[in-house]
Amino acid sequence: MTEPAATPSAAPLVDGFGRAIRDLRVSVTDVCNLRCTYCLPESGIAWLPKDERLDDDETVRLVEVLAGLGVTTVRITGGEPLARSHLPALIERIDAVPGIDEISMTTNGVLLNRHADALVAAGVKRFNVSIDSVHARRFAELTRRDVLPAVLNGLAALDPYRDRIKIKLNAVALRGITEHEAVDLVAFARERDLQLRFIEVMPLDADGAWTEDHVLTGEEVRAIIHEQWPVDALPRERSSTARVWRFRDGGGEIGFVSSVTESFCGDCDRIRLTADGQLRTCLFAHDETDLRGALRAGASDDDLVAMIRGAVAAKQWGHEMHKPGFRPPERPMSAIGG
Ligand code: SAM
Repeated sequence: MTEPAATPSAAPLVDGFGRAIRDLRVSVTDVCNLRCTYCLPESGIAWLPKDERLDDDETVRLVEVLAGLGVTTVRITGGEPLARSHLPALIERIDAVPGIDEISMTTNGVLLNRHADALVAAGVKRFNVSIDSVHARRFAELTRRDVLPAVLNGLAALDPYRDRIKIKLNAVALRGITEHEAVDLVAFARERDLQLRFIEVMPLDADGAWTEDHVLTGEEVRAIIHEQWPVDALPRERSSTARVWRFRDGGGEIGFVSSVTESFCGDCDRIRLTADGQLRTCLFAHDETDLRGALRAGASDDDLVAMIRGAVAAKQWGHEMHKPGFRPPERPMSAIGG
């Protein structure tokens, strides 16, 4: 294997629309310990066989190659990333890759209590913890698991590190449900001085049951919040998925990831690596590039670079959710990596 470069070794990774790729989402497992209704089916899930998943060496090698092409940030996701064993050891290795500036993680928080110390020590700088309700019964209905106390303990386990890490909360907004949850979620976040982000539900559920009727829009949630705590818009940060608003009373900020109603594809800088080593250049792509197959067939770094460049050159403009004939991707969010 060639030595990884400390700075982009060649021309940076730019797609056909001139968007430079900087952010990599690495799904470290497709396995999840929750069964969120908008993501996974209740039962009958065929998880990836172990030998189809990338091992640590393979994952680190791909991150090295991508860092050599200008990727600077890595978000660890899944499935549920904390369902993967020995995760801190992998994170420590990714953190040591020259060119990688920041590692973040998206987690449901259920196992965070057990792993928080090791994850922070390994180098995770940002945690996004998913929590769709702060009411135990509603949380259990949405996730099909009665584990809200574990999530709360997980969040508490991050408290001692607040001076070194950033924490955000993610809540998927669902029509008919989140209208009744939003104010309590916001109160919960404000009490803890955490930024909460509401995410519009996307057609990425394993059951294929999504319709536009399920989407409670960011604007609608914001109107509910604004009644109680008026907010003002902040300028949008480049390549950000969320539009951020500030509470007028000084109570912090709140974000809206309005993936369905306010696409942010225009300056997307993201690509994704699935747990089975497929490169996806868009959450909604139908094509994947088989980097695992190439690695296992003995591909050189140059071979991998050529495959990655080819895939990125063909990155689609956006999600096309509103175009007639739209087809959701073949894999649900849990298998792609959120
Ligand atoms: N298990 C981790 C978690 O719960 O945060 C990481 C993976 S999960 C797929 C990442 C994020 O995607 C979570 O915030 C989850 O709520 C969100 N998500 C899952 N399915 C979604 C969908 N159909 N639409 C919008 N967001 C979704």
